[in-house]
Amino acid sequence: MEIKFVDWGLANNFGEVIELHRDLESSILLAPILEHELKHTNQEELLQKLLHDLVPSKTDVKYFRLKVAMFMLYRPKTWIQILPVYFHKGKGLVYDTSWIFFWMVILNLIFWGVKLI
Ligand SMILES: [Zn+2]
Repeated sequence: MEIKFVDWGLANNFGEVIELHRDLESSILLAPILEHELKHTNQEELLQKLLHDLVPSKTDVKYFRLKVAMFMLYRPKTWIQILPVYFHKGKGLVYDTSWIFFWMVILNLIFWGVKLI
């Protein structure tokens, strides 16, 4: 497994390579984020991947998600991470099933939630 520091996105496991945002290299978030991404390796089932992304694990650092959100807030180039589909320089169009699921839920809530009221 190769670990590469890049300018775009936050963290992605592409199977043979894990890409992490450059600023993570000197961040306290490096270890927990790398651990999270490593756990994605060999997760072929969608449900397994979704649960890993959506349900906080017992080993998560305190306020992990809040810290990640704060890290991203000041680095607009990491915002690409929340897109369900985006263009990756080397890999072309890539998609993230967890974010597709997340946006489907949000859009459903917005669309149907408003209609039900
Ligand atoms: Zn994940």
